[in-house]
Amino acid sequence: MYAPIPMVPGPVTIPQYVLDALSADYPSGQIDADFLPLYAACERGLQKLMGTKNRVLIMSGEGMLALWGALKSVVTEHDRVFVVANGVFSQGMFAMAKSLGCQTEIFSLDFASVVDAAVLSQIFDKAAAFQPTLLCACHCETPSGTLNPLEGLAKIKKDLGIPLFYVDMVSSIGGTPIAVDAWQVDLALGGSQKCLSLPPSLCFASVSPAAFARMEEVNYQGYDALLPFRSIYQDGRCPYTPNWHGMAALNASLTAIFQEGLDNVFQRHLSCQQFVLKSLATLGLALWPRDPSFASPTVTCAKLPSAYTWPAWQEALRKRGLIVAGSFGPMAGKVFRLGHMGEQAQMHLVQAALDVLEIVLRQ
Ligand SMILES: *Cc1c(COP(=O)(O)O)cnc(C)c1O
Repeated sequence: MYAPIPMVPGPVTIPQYVLDALSADYPSGQIDADFLPLYAACERGLQKLMGTKNRVLIMSGEGMLALWGALKSVVTEHDRVFVVANGVFSQGMFAMAKSLGCQTEIFSLDFASVVDAAVLSQIFDKAAAFQPTLLCACHCETPSGTLNPLEGLAKIKKDLGIPLFYVDMVSSIGGTPIAVDAWQVDLALGGSQKCLSLPPSLCFASVSPAAFARMEEVNYQGYDALLPFRSIYQDGRCPYTPNWHGMAALNASLTAIFQEGLDNVFQRHLSCQQFVLKSLATLGLALWPRDPSFASPTVTCAKLPSAYTWPAWQEALRKRGLIVAGSFGPMAGKVFRLGHMGEQAQMHLVQAALDVLEIVLRQ
């Protein structure tokens, strides 16, 4: 269906330069020899985007593949996994670790909160009692539109000597400043279909030396294992078929981001978010996050107007060309979401979206 105002927080609309890169055929002949420099360029770009000197391994598959692969690569049933959960994806990590037979502990917050200073001492105490081998969190909880500060968790990791810190950054990388090394993140996981404006075809993981060391001990064997990607440059080949089209598209996306300038890209996301927050308040629509300062610059989650059910709201907006998302878990049927990330972080787009919201609310 043609969507004049695409505002779903992933998969986002794909810009023409990415579509062009996707549709270009790959060179014949030395396939891997040509592919690896492209892979290396993307790895360097992602390192810059993520604020890390660690390797960034790029794999075919969507974001969940990186989340599963990274987790399975560093845990056994003897590991103690501590999850700080304030949303659908962090709750999901807890379920994932449980399903792998790990010993698990969770610090749960309601989904309108973030991991702010108010809860850090409680998290510290619970983690100190549990003695985790792996600390897990989600940076941007897309389903509830919140962005978790990570400095406090980084300090807890350091103070308690927790060996590894695993963070889902699928919907924040490329839309807001990321400091993987400063935040001491050992495994930072990303995907292609959010702020990078690609189809859901690639995912990536930054891997610290400590995480690599743990991977060697665990020696997980599986399609989603990360370790086989570590030696691609020495091996002169990828473990599996080179994803030419996806990598060319990722390179196009990263090139565009650095041409625009990282600060400008982040400012564009912030400006769109600030406009959305201000306009929603003017329209009398309440945010889902308890405090506007909890809201992510990449996605806004707002409560449904009281006169509408989710299906009726979605239908009314669609009739005027605006495609928004609902949500999951405790937010299902109560909220709608606008994804102003990547190619969708455009002022003309969010203005058009807010115009539709205003018209529908006034009719
Ligand atoms: C979208 C998303 C994922 C999953 O990515 P897929 O590409 O859908 O597999 C994981 N975590 C967060 C926070 C996301 O927004």
